[in-house]
Amino acid sequence: MVTTMTGPTMGTVAEMNLQVPGPVSELVVARLSLPDARVRTGERSGAAADAVILRVPPLPHRTDLPGVLDEGEHARMAQLRRGDDRDRYLLAHTALRLVLGHRLGVRADVLRFARAPCPGCGGPHGRPVLAGASGPEFSLAHGGGLVAVALGDLPVGVDVEPNPSAAVVRRVADHLHPREREMVLSAPEGVRAEVFARLWSRKEAYLKGTGIGLGRGTDTTDATADPPGWAIADLAIAGHAAALASERRRGNR
Ligand SMILES: [Zn+2]
Repeated sequence: MVTTMTGPTMGTVAEMNLQVPGPVSELVVARLSLPDARVRTGERSGAAADAVILRVPPLPHRTDLPGVLDEGEHARMAQLRRGDDRDRYLLAHTALRLVLGHRLGVRADVLRFARAPCPGCGGPHGRPVLAGASGPEFSLAHGGGLVAVALGDLPVGVDVEPNPSAAVVRRVADHLHPREREMVLSAPEGVRAEVFARLWSRKEAYLKGTGIGLGRGTDTTDATADPPGWAIADLAIAGHAAALASERRRGNR
């Protein structure tokens, strides 16, 4: 069956009230728990992570968020050409700060971010981390009408993708691992975009979690199964493909 993938299934979904002021509190917020990944020995994998999924609210609510971004975030937001992209950036980065602040019990605007060392060259452009802190690992994604924030004790990566058009699937299929390409191309036409989006989402979540990023590794990473040392869970969200990747604790590899 072409649409079957290994890895854990989605965990329980429970409403979580973030208790934040303004329109964010009106958003639908779900807290998803990643269950233990199955390992051959049957031992616990230790690949625990949480993701918070927020729906991008309709205008005019997007412009009325608490002002918690720093100068660097404002500068990056200003570089985005489209108003929609700026709104989504503002919501996503505000949500990240609110979720991290909530978890750490600090104000969202005092958080400072840095970059982990790049896994390829050791340079300061790996995955985003909290500066000088022993806070949680995190990952941020936005796509379609959703923003996703993932937290974990070990490195995590999250991705959300709207289901793509057939033209996008054809164009990007060349950037898949051969096993993934086979799975996409052998899928019935009616579900091909969905299969592609789920694989791409799993791949992107994993590459973000490792800090490798999408610049390289898209065609050498096989996201049909869990990569060594990592667990990838599919998150079921209507109209989207979403995935949460989390590093396993040592001893559970
Ligand atoms: Zn590098």
